[in-house]
Amino acid sequence: MNSQHFQTPIEYLKGVGLTRAEVLKKELNIHTFADLLKHFPYKYIDRTRFYKIKDIQPDLPYVQVLARLVSKEMMGEKHTKRLVAQAKDDTGIIELVWFQGIKWVEKSLVPGQVYVLFGKPGFFNGKAQMAHPEIEPYNPKAPQQRGALTLQPAYNSTEKLKQFSLDSKGLQKLIAALLDQYAREIHENLPAYVLNRFKLAGRAESYRNIHFPNDAAQLHEAVLRLKFEELFFLQLKLLKNKLTRTAKFKGNVFGTVGHYFNEFYHHKLPFELTDPQKKVLKEIRVDTQRGVQMNRLLQGDVGSGKTVVALMSMLIAIDNGFQTCIMAPTEILANQHYQTIKSLVGDDFVELALLTGSVPQKKRRVIHEQLEDGTLKILIGTHALIEDKVQYKNLGLVVIDEQHRFGVEQRAKLWRKNIIPPHVLVMTATPIPRTLAMTLYGDLDVSVIDQLPAGRKPIETKHFYDAQRLRMFGFMKQEIAKGRQVYVVYPLIQESEKLDLKNLIDGTEVMSREFPLPQFRISVVHGKMAAADKDFEMQRFIKGETQIMVATTVIEVGVNVPNASVMIIENAERFGLSQLHQLRGRVGRGAEQSYCILMTGQKLSADGRVRINTMVKTNNGFEIAEIDMQLRGPGNIEGTQQSGVLDLKIADLTTDQELLTKVRKCVEDLLAADPQLALPEHQILHQSPQEKNGGLSWDKIS
Ligand code: ADP
Ligand code: MG
Repeated sequence: MNSQHFQTPIEYLKGVGLTRAEVLKKELNIHTFADLLKHFPYKYIDRTRFYKIKDIQPDLPYVQVLARLVSKEMMGEKHTKRLVAQAKDDTGIIELVWFQGIKWVEKSLVPGQVYVLFGKPGFFNGKAQMAHPEIEPYNPKAPQQRGALTLQPAYNSTEKLKQFSLDSKGLQKLIAALLDQYAREIHENLPAYVLNRFKLAGRAESYRNIHFPNDAAQLHEAVLRLKFEELFFLQLKLLKNKLTRTAKFKGNVFGTVGHYFNEFYHHKLPFELTDPQKKVLKEIRVDTQRGVQMNRLLQGDVGSGKTVVALMSMLIAIDNGFQTCIMAPTEILANQHYQTIKSLVGDDFVELALLTGSVPQKKRRVIHEQLEDGTLKILIGTHALIEDKVQYKNLGLVVIDEQHRFGVEQRAKLWRKNIIPPHVLVMTATPIPRTLAMTLYGDLDVSVIDQLPAGRKPIETKHFYDAQRLRMFGFMKQEIAKGRQVYVVYPLIQESEKLDLKNLIDGTEVMSREFPLPQFRISVVHGKMAAADKDFEMQRFIKGETQIMVATTVIEVGVNVPNASVMIIENAERFGLSQLHQLRGRVGRGAEQSYCILMTGQKLSADGRVRINTMVKTNNGFEIAEIDMQLRGPGNIEGTQQSGVLDLKIADLTTDQELLTKVRKCVEDLLAADPQLALPEHQILHQSPQEKNGGLSWDKIS
């Protein structure tokens, strides 16, 4: 498809025209010949197999039946007029019904003749039935009915399209016509040695065979080739971006490790680093010495010790005369980072400050001055710290907590904060599957902390049905008696906000009856409260004045209360896996054994059950992320929504992980050997820019 032809507007294809073109654009986003060619079948109907009538079930897809016509009869009047026929094989009888074109069909049906029937079976009065089947006389000499098509493609269509005769069949005809006319012009776009090494089918034949395969093997080869191609050009684009950026932006060189780092490491760090923590520090160390800007994503579960790693990297920056900052998505989180870091480094060790929206003007001015003259070494805050009026003397490293809450825009803004852009370390506690990271953050380097510090007691997770509520109350009392605090969380889902609030209020009432004053005190926090009230309630809990915090998911990010050791999640079946895992991460922060209790109704959907069981079974965020992706598909994973990267036509990040890993490696090797794509065998990669990105919109990629 290097040819211009494939960018031709779809109305110019024979058999389309303006009206149908409009509908194709609106309904299927098909604008050009290429778009149509990439409207791949969503399934294939196996025309090599004949069903026995007795084996027909109500919810089978399209089936093919070989049966002898025994009768035909016109029935009903006017509106109810229909043609009903009976056909039988050696196992039973099937009824065939037509409501339209019945005169013509009636004429063509010959009782006694054996037919190949093809259609979606249904049941009526307990009898197998088929409405408007495709029907043709059986010819034993041509066992493959319908020409050579043994696997018949089925295409997604819509009601609207059907009105314009563009049902699956209609689309199939258009695609067949397109291929007949232009298949010759689909040129290869992968280097020959890549095709050989991975035993890939040619491009033109793959496009033909994915639509009209002769057999399953051929289909498999076509699919593999086209998936490979899609992933290949995606990775090529991402990795080339990375190369270009590396070439374009110089990076600050953190050449030495000095006073700050050493002092902290030898005299202040209260524990031994875990192996993954050490490994990540080394990676950052290497990155920041090369004179190239670092863009690194650090993934690790809540509590895995990302903050310490970030702090130590910052100390290295400071050792080299640079300033650093940490940016958090909320004030509460910024505040917590500030407290954590302050207590880790102690007083009078390094100049640090907190900058959020609620810092008073006067103090803010001082901070601004100290940033500009370089006295301030560590600034911690919300996005307030990248406002234009905040100027640094020499910003060397930026740490961003919680990747997906910061847009590309904001990251770009940071880069402009210094002549040489600062190194960027992005931390996220929402692990995403490796393949997703490779694609979504394909132009970042990824580090992983996949091990919790030693001695941490894993959170115990239990599943209770609503009927076991008394047991749950008993458990809460037992823990509170030990001096612990408890979260009770209700779901908050936009569409039913009112109902959710009611759930929370009812729940709170039940709680206050079960846990009465003066012995017990309860904090309540929900999204409809004024910020000041929310904060007040939160603070009471943080200070230990209340033992129970009833809340909607507003506590998902934020609060770190080490004394809280029980997380109760109401209607747990209504939460997604990653959300459940995030919520669970609110406990298990102290030395005590912590618990997470998932409350659900008796009835659970299949997916709901998998989610609950997964939570009970594992505490590992990466494992959970994998299962989440299997359940929901890559496009629904938190943080991926606006990403054009996942707009894949044929590859599937859930099932094609192995292929993606191979492709990524292939592209890495290719670029390592030939970064400019200058070698003769790579000239093929320069052709046709529209084609290369496979129709994806690259401007959406960070
Ligand atoms: P994260 O930011 O990944 O959620 P933190 O860096 O906040 O995790 O660490 C969680 C807690 O564990 C903190 O109290 C921290 O001091 C502690 N911690 C971090 N690393 C270690 C370690 N190697 N050994 C023991 N405790 C650690
Ligand atoms: Mg943290």
